Amino acid sequence: MDLRFRDAKPTDEERAAVDDLLGPPASAWTGGSRTDADLRMAVRAEEARDQLLPALHAVNDRVGWISEGALDYICRRLNVPPSEAYGVATFYSLLSVEERPKRVLHVCTDLACQAKGSKAVCDRVRERLGPPGKDWQESPCLGLCERAPAALALEAGVPHRAEVYAPATPDTITTITGTLPTTLPTTLPTTLPGTLPGTNGHAPAVHVAGETPVKEAVPQSGDPGLVLLRRVGQVDPASLDDYRAAGGYTALRRAFELGPTGVIREVLESGLVGRGGAAFPTGRKWEATARQPDHPHYLVCNADESEPGTFKDRVVMEGDPYALIEAMTVAAYATGCAKGYLYIRGEYPRATARLQHAIATARSRGLLGDDILGKGLSFDIELRRGAGAYICGEETAIFNSIEGRRGEPRSKPPFPVEKGLFGKPTVVNNVETLVNVLPILERGAQAYAAAEPKLFCVSGAVERPGVYELTFGATLRELLDLAGTTGTTRAVLLGGAAGAFVTDLDIPLTFEGTRNAGATLGSGVVLVIDDSVDLKALLLRIAEFFRDESCGQCVPCRVGTVRQEEALHRLTRRVDPNEPRRDDDPDLVLLREVGQTMRDASICGLGQTAWNAVESAIDRLGVFT
Ligand code: SF4
Repeated sequence: MDLRFRDAKPTDEERAAVDDLLGPPASAWTGGSRTDADLRMAVRAEEARDQLLPALHAVNDRVGWISEGALDYICRRLNVPPSEAYGVATFYSLLSVEERPKRVLHVCTDLACQAKGSKAVCDRVRERLGPPGKDWQESPCLGLCERAPAALALEAGVPHRAEVYAPATPDTITTITGTLPTTLPTTLPTTLPGTLPGTNGHAPAVHVAGETPVKEAVPQSGDPGLVLLRRVGQVDPASLDDYRAAGGYTALRRAFELGPTGVIREVLESGLVGRGGAAFPTGRKWEATARQPDHPHYLVCNADESEPGTFKDRVVMEGDPYALIEAMTVAAYATGCAKGYLYIRGEYPRATARLQHAIATARSRGLLGDDILGKGLSFDIELRRGAGAYICGEETAIFNSIEGRRGEPRSKPPFPVEKGLFGKPTVVNNVETLVNVLPILERGAQAYAAAEPKLFCVSGAVERPGVYELTFGATLRELLDLAGTTGTTRAVLLGGAAGAFVTDLDIPLTFEGTRNAGATLGSGVVLVIDDSVDLKALLLRIAEFFRDESCGQCVPCRVGTVRQEEALHRLTRRVDPNEPRRDDDPDLVLLREVGQTMRDASICGLGQTAWNAVESAIDRLGVFT
């Protein structure tokens, strides 16, 4: 691509997509006549680099891809160098800089879907549409693991549309590629769009179809003992009144009684640690941010759950969106943040729509904005959509993504509590961590700590896949008894692709218990593997996933993930796959050396964990030996 875009012109549709987001261009140019080559044409004071990803989304959503002309227009509007904008546009898998149809089918081939037959689904798509390319793509985890195998059709237009097929079968594929027109039906159930700050009144509405009631993702729904999931499937997620009638905004009122330092004290005493995998004490993070003299402070909610097999945050956001808004408001109050960003995966259209509606409603009812509940608190939330990049679940990669840069992790220190988003003190928590703050304030730290809830995403060979809530300390066996295993359980993958296989079902599901067992709770993934699953194929998929998702910034991960996949392919393709291997097999030795190097020398968690599952499969399950 010519990064000077000399002759590229946006179409009217592309220009309208950008202008609807940013408002019409207003120029400070006062000298003579102006041409399209005049770079002074469009910079508005309030426009900034951080609108780059929303602008790319706007064109991609409306047209289906981003042409040179559109990219050039965005660069002029935002004063971004074309080479940098191109680098951002090509970083994300949901964006395309090559022409393609308006409707693209994404078929999940990740762990839970692979274990449930995604290969047969892909084979049928290949028969109907040819090899993966512009019409369809093999996709990383879509976060629909409880209904695996899953597919998602995205269609550009106004509004853009999303249709979920889960579970998808070869027959589903025959139907949607054969009898339906190339566009999705026009009578789709309409979700409620909201107006987002920073979008000049334009609501990036999405129409979503094919979803099932969120209640079906919570097998325990209605159980009076539930804490975090108590409202999911029980109240109307669109109704703020229902939320309040079911106890909503009790925690925020309690927070105002306690004051910011009192809230932090409660969170510290509760012992709450981050639920994203790192298990850092939340109260310490909040305390450190609140103390920073530099202002403004920012709050970032990490809703980019992309670990294969993880879908708990999606279920919470779809079923109880106001809980997340209330929890973010409490966090902002405690840490002194006037602005919060809610960064959500691009693959979650229903959760996005419900949060858009909830944010707009909360704002219109005085629960976001200035003087919340008449207590003098000013806080608002801006929803930002990711665009298909696992690495953007890493906290500093989110900062770069929001700022309009490639979503590459930053080296630490400095830590986010000192210099995070836009170089300012920033507190980052994921969805599950934040919603835990509500029962801490409602019940008190001691009562909460006595029965601390944890969410698990159960999928694979079980009768009742879904999100489960248990108190810390329950065993893996107790969880699987609730879900009901099918077939003969060979192993359980704990923690997703970055986790490890275990065979001991009596492991206590705590951070310490899983660590002592050489595993991790990670993001709460519990993928049950029975004898029908081809473990070598599963390992290859894990290796392919990490190779594909590596941002390429550091050598151990960029090269190591490729070497890992190559060695696994060689081991898998041997003439006699049952030939016993020796410990000094060159490919096994290579795997261990590369794995250890990635673990020791990679910048971020992706490279540091890319060998975990493969190592545990070799050592504990005897794969390749
Ligand atoms: Fe990027 Fe991998 Fe390095 Fe992380 S470890 S910064 S994903 S190359």
